[in-house]
Amino acid sequence: MRVYSEQKELMQVTCNGCRKNLLVENGFLREECIHVEHDFGFFGSRDGLSHRFDLCEECYQKMIGRFAVPVEEWERKELL
Ligand SMILES: [Zn+2]
Repeated sequence: MRVYSEQKELMQVTCNGCRKNLLVENGFLREECIHVEHDFGFFGSRDGLSHRFDLCEECYQKMIGRFAVPVEEWERKELL
């Protein structure tokens, strides 16, 4: 979950999984965070809804640890 100031500056990022507040300095997130924003389509029970959440690395690891098929992983050649 993200909180912005009235000037649209990022103020706080809280992990939806464990409520940990991630490090935000001067409007920038300084800690790894998995941000998901998804618009549900026509073929499911959430038709027309959108979901958004943030996970810390630990909660992300717990989530993918329950997957029956491992996530795909590769090393990027260029980092921004
Ligand atoms: Zn967490």
